[in-house]
Amino acid sequence: MLRDEDIIKIEAPVLSAGERLFLPAILGGMKTTLRHMFALKQRRTVQYPEEKRKLRVENYRGVHRLNRDHDGRVACVACYMCSTACPAHCIHIEAGESPWSDREKYPVKFDIDELRCIYCGMCEEACPVDAIELTPDYSLVGRTRDEMILGKEELLAVFDATRQIKPRKDPPITGYPNSGRASVGRVETVMSGTAEAAQDHAVRDGNTAAGGAGDAHSGGAGGDGHA
Ligand code: SF4
Ligand code: SF4
Repeated sequence: MLRDEDIIKIEAPVLSAGERLFLPAILGGMKTTLRHMFALKQRRTVQYPEEKRKLRVENYRGVHRLNRDHDGRVACVACYMCSTACPAHCIHIEAGESPWSDREKYPVKFDIDELRCIYCGMCEEACPVDAIELTPDYSLVGRTRDEMILGKEELLAVFDATRQIKPRKDPPITGYPNSGRASVGRVETVMSGTAEAAQDHAVRDGNTAAGGAGDAHSGGAGGDGHA
């Protein structure tokens, strides 16, 4: 039962003669509209995708890349540190015996499910050889879920397309210029399916048995331990 003391009575405000005409409010609204119409420098609209929005932060974490070492080989040593640290369990690695004498293992298969990823950066923090990094590129699109699983060759292709960018660190194993400075680089080669550049490096990476970029996008890769 509602008690009388619980009822709050609100009196309608008494409007002045000017307020009853609503002219001040209308003129105030018109002033705001005109200010936005002619404030050209303050326009927020971006004609995407022709026009790219400038990132507000330098350390934006976008699409992953798998770095190459100075000899052009995949820098990853298949230690599983990144997949262990990943809170989203979206990194799948299959290690194989390295064909090179300076390391024991290398990744025969290396997949990242970019849809499951939460772009936390834990993987690049965990990597002892700075082989995995997140680039500032945000233009990652795909038409199927499988397309959003980037395989080893595609991740290497991202590196090839963004090697001039050094997102956050300058490790000696990669040693690229522009240390600590990020810039936006569009990764054209990844989701458009152009794996030619990646294929060029496949033999050099000792990946002939692992197959090309298409392997990562096959149905087998999608159901191969990504759950
Ligand atoms: S950024 Fe985070 S969620 Fe994404 S792969 Fe790396 S560790 Fe996993
Ligand atoms: S990317 Fe780095 S942390 Fe992940 S398996 Fe390769 S070497 Fe280890």
